[in-house]
Amino acid sequence: MSKKYVYMFSEGNASMKSLLGGKGANLAEMTMLGLPIPQGFTISTEACTEYNEGGKKLTEEMIAQIEVALSKLEEIAGKKLGDPQNPLLVSVRSGARASMPGMMDTVLNLGLNDVSVEGLAKKTGNPRFAYDSYRRFIMMFADVVIGVSKSKFERKLDEYKDEVGAKFDTDLTAEDLKKVTAMFKQIYLEDQGKEFPQDPKEQLFEAAMAVFRSWDNPRAFVYRRMNDIPYSWGTAVNVQMMVFGNMGDTSGTGVAFTRNAATGEKAMLGEYLVNAQGEDVVAGVRTPNPIAKLAEDMPAVYEQFIEISNTLENHYKDMQDMEFTVEEGKLYFLQTRNGKRTANAALRIAVEMVDEGLITKEEALMKVEPKQLDQILHPAFDPKALKAATPLGKGLPASPGAAAGKVCFTAEDAKEQAEGGDRVILVRLETSPEDIEGMAAAQGILTVRGGMTSHAAVVARGMGTCCVSGCEEIKMNEAAKTFTLGGKTFKEGDFISLDGSTGNIYGEDIPTVDPEISGNFAKFMAWADERRSLKVRTNADTPHDAQIAIDFGAEGIGLTRTEHMFFEGDRIMKFRKMILADTVAERVEALKGIEPFQKEDFKGIYKAMQERPVTIRLLDPPLHEFMPNTDEEFDILAKETGKTVEELKVKARGLHELNPMMGHRGCRLAVSYPEIAEMQTRAIMEAAVEVSNELNINIKPEIMIPLIGEIKELKYVKNIVVETAEKVMADAGKKLEYLVGTMIEIPRAALTADEIATEAEFFSFGTNDLTQMTYGLSRDDAGKILADYIDRNIYECDPTARLDRTGVGMLMKWAVEKALPVRPDIHLGICGEHGGDPSSVEFCHLIGLDYVSCSPFRVPIARLAAAQAQINFPRETRKH
Ligand code: ADP
Ligand code: MG
Ligand code: MG
Repeated sequence: MSKKYVYMFSEGNASMKSLLGGKGANLAEMTMLGLPIPQGFTISTEACTEYNEGGKKLTEEMIAQIEVALSKLEEIAGKKLGDPQNPLLVSVRSGARASMPGMMDTVLNLGLNDVSVEGLAKKTGNPRFAYDSYRRFIMMFADVVIGVSKSKFERKLDEYKDEVGAKFDTDLTAEDLKKVTAMFKQIYLEDQGKEFPQDPKEQLFEAAMAVFRSWDNPRAFVYRRMNDIPYSWGTAVNVQMMVFGNMGDTSGTGVAFTRNAATGEKAMLGEYLVNAQGEDVVAGVRTPNPIAKLAEDMPAVYEQFIEISNTLENHYKDMQDMEFTVEEGKLYFLQTRNGKRTANAALRIAVEMVDEGLITKEEALMKVEPKQLDQILHPAFDPKALKAATPLGKGLPASPGAAAGKVCFTAEDAKEQAEGGDRVILVRLETSPEDIEGMAAAQGILTVRGGMTSHAAVVARGMGTCCVSGCEEIKMNEAAKTFTLGGKTFKEGDFISLDGSTGNIYGEDIPTVDPEISGNFAKFMAWADERRSLKVRTNADTPHDAQIAIDFGAEGIGLTRTEHMFFEGDRIMKFRKMILADTVAERVEALKGIEPFQKEDFKGIYKAMQERPVTIRLLDPPLHEFMPNTDEEFDILAKETGKTVEELKVKARGLHELNPMMGHRGCRLAVSYPEIAEMQTRAIMEAAVEVSNELNINIKPEIMIPLIGEIKELKYVKNIVVETAEKVMADAGKKLEYLVGTMIEIPRAALTADEIATEAEFFSFGTNDLTQMTYGLSRDDAGKILADYIDRNIYECDPTARLDRTGVGMLMKWAVEKALPVRPDIHLGICGEHGGDPSSVEFCHLIGLDYVSCSPFRVPIARLAAAQAQINFPRETRKH
């Protein structure tokens, strides 16, 4: 045998996730723990990759191994697939390495056909159950494997239920279901032009291939992109013996979390339905019972369920999300995985599990996804406005947070209107995986059906989006795009507000405020700080931003942009005068008007940061951003300068550039107009001297020269900076330490880093420009192009959001390795957008940077990502 593609559950374990997928590996682990698991086998992710890359066919080798595994399973089960008297039925379930809820479709009851359904009815003495299973199978197989829309079947079923006056599926009799089955087969025949496949092996192979193909479907791509899951992982296929929750009132099915996934409270959260099959609970077809009710309905089963839940949580040392089915009073577990949770729940669970002695601090740090912390920095309702508002209705508090926006009824509308800049709330009967992009675009999600574990709830929690589910008071008219709640009718575009923590729904636009940070958060972040070796700074241009960042744990400023300082009030006029001046004297005069403001701005920032390091970048943007645009602006400028509008326009035209981002910006401005660099340096140093004296501390400014590509260029500007700085200090009679460094954002600077390091006392990787220039992809126009590239799977993720380690990263690594021998004590950091992206933070840790710098709200994310990087890849902190 060349390669093993198929594993019995008894052959695997939890550590084999990359090969068996999460579901398969955990089914194997639970089998090993001796838990009641319907047995089966797993076809590996490697088979998926080979299938999708190799002409979409199962190889003979794979088929042979599946056949062997199937006979082993038949032996264990004591029944055979397709046996007319006593048929073995199986489910075919997908399962990737990372859990992708609802993204991949499952087929249940496979193995039924016109003959075996009768055998099953006789064998169980339960024809209702047999036909209920068969009609479900036809629908799922047609939908998942062949792609015949589920709604065709559902509509038929609803019609039939109306016809016979049945409210729920459970009201249908065996005869009813037999008729429904025949109708379903007819739908299949009409759609496909051939009969529903009767050969169970054909059913099995077709279903397995469909699972492999589902890795390639558009919603799987969307989910992977949102969660940084690489295409190359593939999904495994699990073939598992069926157990039946739809055999009557001593049967049922449910899902449960060992702790509350919304709040983190140590209390079981679960739901189940009597006489139902798997999908029913999750799909929100009927609203399920809380798990506590199981204790009344089936006390012995409940007790065993709690016991196994505890075993699983202790075994995995994490909150578990479990699926179970009760078949005629016997309990089976069908799945367990580490449960998705809100950020607040994640923090609470991590902290409490350390307190309980279940895990170490280090293990706790690995349990929270850095990106998730973003959620707790989300807004909540303004308490006063909330008090004044009266809820119109209430649903389940499925995913916390506060959201207000305009009502939208379809995912497409939500997406479109959000792209147009509107805040929207997606209101649906229930959501399905196709809605994922609309859900991601919405501020909040409201569903009429479905419980705490419905698709909407699970996906919303994962995304950190506010969700209220199961509000059955809502009368929905999807076709007319209206709904009624609390006596009020809402149409598309009307404002509503949702409170995901209480489930309250309001018929108005309630203002939101920034969130509070809870005790668990602070405690947890302190553990992260103990662990990490990478420092975290922030990008802040104002004292206000700087203060927010300090509250979030920033240790300094990695980037202060000075350009906005030229736009406020009438500063821009002065700057325009400077640009359009004809002589140096005129320019110097114009800059004098700006200098005092600039100095005040810097003083404000120093005061907020105290002795923490502050990197200030000299003026960077291209000149055209400062040009007068309107005739009115030219008029004012003409009056102020005594020149004619025509003269000014000629001058402005002369400065026009075809490609400003590659034009007259960054240090190039300082080369052409040294007065700017001089003025800025003076403001930086005088502010530092004054604040140092006022507060009796030592400010150590870091002056950063942008857009260097050539050592002589750096030298030229640095000379201006140093001369000016020395003069300021001589005049003030005060000596301060200060650094002059550069951004590494032009590939040539990275390539010649050994030369650059002879002059630069620090490097800050400007990965926004470095990415733009390495890819030759304009940041301003990249959106559309990248969307196409990502759709076509040419780029797996957006390199402007997540650092490209292979290309851009190589330039960074090269620059670090070249610079260190020349200047061993050089400071190394990053100040591009990537500084707050966990994967990029890890890369910065790996190549030995001293710090990352990111926007204030991402500082906690970077702190945790840095701690995780240190846990995964320990390194020493550099000493200077
Ligand atoms: P998902 O990944 O979307 O949760 P699953 O493969 O877990 O899909 O299955 C969907 C539903 O079908 C779940 O509720 C599961 O418990 C149920 N199910 C899957 N396999 C079986 C089986 N062998 N017997 C009974 N129910 C099953
Ligand atoms: Mg599942
Ligand atoms: Mg730049």
